[in-house]
Amino acid sequence: MKELSGIPASKGLVIGKALLYLEDALPEIPRYSIKETQVNEEWRRFLLAVNTITEKIRQELNEIPVKDSRERRDILEAQLLMFEDIDFHENVKHGLESGLQNIENVVWDVSQELIQKLAALPGAEFRARIADVSGMAQELLNELLSIHPFSLAGLNEAVIIVARDLLPSQALAMNKDFVKAIVTDAGSQISHTAIIARASRIPAVMGLSSGSAQIKSGDTLIVDGDRGVVFIEPDKKTLSLYQKMIKENRAKAKMASSSNGRRAETKDGRLITLKVNMETPSEFKKALSCGAEGVGLYRSEFIFLAGDKAADEENQYRTYSEMLKAARNLPVTIRTLDAGGDKIIPSLFQDSDEKNPLLGWRSIRVSLSMPDIFKTQLRAILRASVHGDVRIMFPLISGLAELEQALRFLEEAKTECAAKKQPYSDTIPVGIMVEVPSAALIANRLIKKADFFSIGTNDMIQYTLGVDRGNEKVSYLARPEHPAILRLIKMTIDAAHKQGKPAAMCGEMAGDTRFTPLLVGLGLDEFSMNAAALGDVKHIIRGISFAECQKLAKKALQCAGTERVAALLGSS
Ligand code: PEP
Ligand code: MG
Repeated sequence: MKELSGIPASKGLVIGKALLYLEDALPEIPRYSIKETQVNEEWRRFLLAVNTITEKIRQELNEIPVKDSRERRDILEAQLLMFEDIDFHENVKHGLESGLQNIENVVWDVSQELIQKLAALPGAEFRARIADVSGMAQELLNELLSIHPFSLAGLNEAVIIVARDLLPSQALAMNKDFVKAIVTDAGSQISHTAIIARASRIPAVMGLSSGSAQIKSGDTLIVDGDRGVVFIEPDKKTLSLYQKMIKENRAKAKMASSSNGRRAETKDGRLITLKVNMETPSEFKKALSCGAEGVGLYRSEFIFLAGDKAADEENQYRTYSEMLKAARNLPVTIRTLDAGGDKIIPSLFQDSDEKNPLLGWRSIRVSLSMPDIFKTQLRAILRASVHGDVRIMFPLISGLAELEQALRFLEEAKTECAAKKQPYSDTIPVGIMVEVPSAALIANRLIKKADFFSIGTNDMIQYTLGVDRGNEKVSYLARPEHPAILRLIKMTIDAAHKQGKPAAMCGEMAGDTRFTPLLVGLGLDEFSMNAAALGDVKHIIRGISFAECQKLAKKALQCAGTERVAALLGSS
């Protein structure tokens, strides 16, 4: 038996078989010259590859039940058109005859040329096509080189995924019904993949450094997401200990759900609002069934990660409307596109080669510099607003000018809807995420132009303490109890309250029960968290008094260092 220690990224205990997932994005392309007499053979290989792929697409199209949404059908039909595009075929043929290079080389060059042409054109639809062309090239090359990448979406057996790293888009695409747990070498508690794991209630241990080198597919693993430990080929004693603990946990979960239906009210009568964070609309109904009073953070960028078609105005409108209807008038806070960092949307970031992406073109900065994309999203939200109680939230606001510019675009989007006689609610609350220290420091100014704050502690920790949230080497520094973080939280809450407006928190700290009494004491009005944490947080709130929490918060703010705060909270 081997025991590996990492970061407890998502709670839960699991015993299962490992599946090593090590994929490389693009195959290595062989490059060699051919003779004129080989041109026909290479052309035949190209046609055969196209034919194999299009046959598979046609088969999938035939298998989609008629009653299913048009979305998948539209995507597949668009793919067929691309693979069979006459211009593309002619360009490949011409490249083959004039360059006398092997077909893989020609496919690569022709697709790169096309991508460059598209990148030079203005407009979102051309940028959207870049991702399509690049996906098509990758598929053709895989087929030509007989590489059949394993897809996490195609899982059909319950496994524990072991990977060097998992992108949020990969985590989102996996068939979660068959993922018992996730184990990765990279990542931290606040990396987006960890957030998705928690939202999906999949236990996860991250930051293992070399776990993927020590675990083989088929190994029996115990994943302890509570302590951040993974056992490889556990001995009998450890196995039976964990089997017992898993049984006990099931019983505890039943107990926690017993406060479902009751409000989160302290013993001395302070009411706290508890909401959920969501990444995909499909989690929606299940997430709200945990007793949440709405959605405090809907990470809308995951629509964009699902592909460009999914992000057009009609599709966004449909997605938001369905969510709002399912919420039955509970408030739903839609955060506008928060792309960049580890959430790379291929069509938007095609030309982007930044040295410091986390400090670069991301989040609201992307939206403000691409008004067509931003306003498309705002119009979709506005139009959906007639179906429920929606709130708009801008991410990563770092100064007043950004907020004012975002608000101007919102006004323009309203005018555009009005011009088309599209109805929308004119009383939508508009808030901002406070996740950059500069925003907390000028919170008193920002709140005059916003209806609410929501504190994003994941990024606030990253930017205040200078800790890359995806880097396991420095994750030990990412401590919410750092006195600087506590001060920024306090400033933000106080600034909101001074203007009679509410302060929420949707960073991971809000769902961490170690901090519940402290945050209540600091005056936080609303906690938004992953659905799995809500029962426990509510249970704690119902057992504490606001007056005691205020005393605790006062003491915490006086502590000189992180360890002192941790000792005070009993979280060290
Ligand atoms: C945050 O930064 O705390 C937050 C909630 O946003 P995200 O995790 O999506 O960056
Ligand atoms: Mg953030």
